[in-house]
Amino acid sequence: MLKFLFCDLTHTGLGINNNTFPLGLGTVASYLIKSMNEKLKYEIIKFPENLNDALKREFPDVLCMSYFAFNANLSYEYAKYVKTVSPKTLVVFGGPNFSLEKEKRKTFLKNHPAIDFYIKWDGEYALTDLIQRYINSGLDITNLKSSNFISDNICYTYDDQYLEGDDKRVTDLMNIPSPYLTGLFDNLFQYPLTPTIETNRGCPFSCTFCNDGHSLRNAITSKSVEFVKEELEYIASRTNHPAHYNISIVDLNFGMYKEDLITSKMINSIIKKYDWPNRIEIAMGKSQPRRLVEVANIINEAKPGIMKLAPSFQSTDIEILKNVKRKNISMDQLIKMRDWSQQDTTLEFFTEIILALPGDSLIRHYKTLEDCIDKLLMNSIDIHQLTILKGSEMETTYYRDLYKLNSKFRVYVGCVGIYPIGENKFPCAEIEEVVVSNKTLSFKEYIECRIMNLLVKIYIDHDPFSEILGIIKKSDLSVFEILLLLKNQILSNYSSLTDLINSFIEGSTKPLFDNLKEINDFVFDFDNIKGYESGKYGQNELSTHRAKAYVENLDDLYDALKDATILYLKNKNLISRDLENYFEEAVEIAKARKFNFDNYKDAIEKEISFDFINADKLGFIIDPQNHKIKRKKVKLFYDEKQLIIIKDMIERYGKNTLHEKGKFYQKGNTMLMNRQISYI
Ligand code: SF4
Repeated sequence: MLKFLFCDLTHTGLGINNNTFPLGLGTVASYLIKSMNEKLKYEIIKFPENLNDALKREFPDVLCMSYFAFNANLSYEYAKYVKTVSPKTLVVFGGPNFSLEKEKRKTFLKNHPAIDFYIKWDGEYALTDLIQRYINSGLDITNLKSSNFISDNICYTYDDQYLEGDDKRVTDLMNIPSPYLTGLFDNLFQYPLTPTIETNRGCPFSCTFCNDGHSLRNAITSKSVEFVKEELEYIASRTNHPAHYNISIVDLNFGMYKEDLITSKMINSIIKKYDWPNRIEIAMGKSQPRRLVEVANIINEAKPGIMKLAPSFQSTDIEILKNVKRKNISMDQLIKMRDWSQQDTTLEFFTEIILALPGDSLIRHYKTLEDCIDKLLMNSIDIHQLTILKGSEMETTYYRDLYKLNSKFRVYVGCVGIYPIGENKFPCAEIEEVVVSNKTLSFKEYIECRIMNLLVKIYIDHDPFSEILGIIKKSDLSVFEILLLLKNQILSNYSSLTDLINSFIEGSTKPLFDNLKEINDFVFDFDNIKGYESGKYGQNELSTHRAKAYVENLDDLYDALKDATILYLKNKNLISRDLENYFEEAVEIAKARKFNFDNYKDAIEKEISFDFINADKLGFIIDPQNHKIKRKKVKLFYDEKQLIIIKDMIERYGKNTLHEKGKFYQKGNTMLMNRQISYI
């Protein structure tokens, strides 16, 4: 009986980096097992330590490894080791981290001789075909390769030749058994991994920065609602760790298709039946805005705040969108989405933005942020740097040259560690290529944009300062202009905040290397990996500096925001004594409402002369004049449900280091973690 190891490795040096069930690898494995009538032995492996233990027990006949930007070097180090000790083991890699240019694919395989075969695109049918051929060759890799066979999606080198089959997709997802329902993933429930499902595969869009943007991926294939329901029920009955309380739906455009309405109703009933999950991670569609809202409303009805309304658009600039072949929901429709959605203060109205896309500039980036904050009133914003992914159109030489993409190299956030291999250990990190300037954006402007991005994460993401900024929204004034005032005039009055910005700039620029060789030489070193693990060489600068700001500089953050808001209103002749009084009180109430790692159990008492209880219900989008009350005592507290959410989050992400706290603020819906207010 053939012995297989299926590995979807994750780095663990800074906690589990890719903490999800390996769905892609799981479906490839489950189809192979079905096709071979279960005549094989196998293990599914996520962690390097487990792989090393498995190899100590026995080298497999076949080693299958998923290959992503976040586990590329780690996977290849083990493949090299396996090939050295057990040359007869067939080593097969697969995954999206593979260039669209044939010449680069060939060079890659020549430079990675431990990989016998690489499967491009969907792997289910191709791996099964390859294994059948391997068996027919008498389990002899040279025999197999020397036949010079050509088969869909299978790429390999032999002698000096590079051979590859046509590009093919799986077009009937219902033909692939579920790795959950077949018990393939049962063993993984002992680990803190987030269950992952897909209801469909494919994307009709063509974004040049994405490795799902290729025309081959345009057709959509779906699973039935019954299939997905069975999977969800299976998972729900096995959850035993806070990591299992989330679920990730990896559809590329959830909510965009008619069937998603039926799926969302089914999910609503699952939530009510199992009180699970606590959070649904999704990427929503880029058209059908009414349907997206309906889907979010249906699911959030079962548990408010469980799922984002997430019409991600990356940029609102027409020219940039044309350059990256991105189609978005129109601005008019985006504005309507908020009105169509449930008016619930826990709803995350979310988008992702990418800095330094082709055609981007400081003015265009700021305009996109202003659109998100002032026009759309978005309260959940992720801002990414542009990374060049293998397998995307952006990685092609033609495209890079067209927009003069100037990139540098850095360690992929969270992808570092020191791992066992045989009786030894090795240092390892993943490298990513980020664009730091282009034809229309200088490096200096890029840094200015990054500083603004930090302010957006601190002040806007998850509405942590709604008590102050709500009145600006109520008056149709510009919150973004307040951020500009903060950045350009106010922050320098606060030495702690100046230090924060300087540390952020240093952390964002110092770990950038000019070329791949330099950074590879640097990171494959024990001491330097320890430096990354300790934070000496930087981590996720946006998330750690946001956490640092909340944990170490909260008073100054509030004072600076108050100064900027008052200055802004003064400049418009809109400030009054009453408003200044409101801000004084709002800051006190806001500090007491906010989650604090050091004290989240005790209730806090305050006195108020504005009706903050009603203001809270309105998301603080109020005119304080209409909320004046006779001075009263209030208590601010967490209810049982909130304490459970907080406990789960702390267990999941930790609370000891800035890296852990950064993840905590980044991954959770912290709008669910504001203390409630009631009169005493
Ligand atoms: S970024 Fe999203 S919409 Fe664009 S191609 Fe990729 S998956 Fe599709």
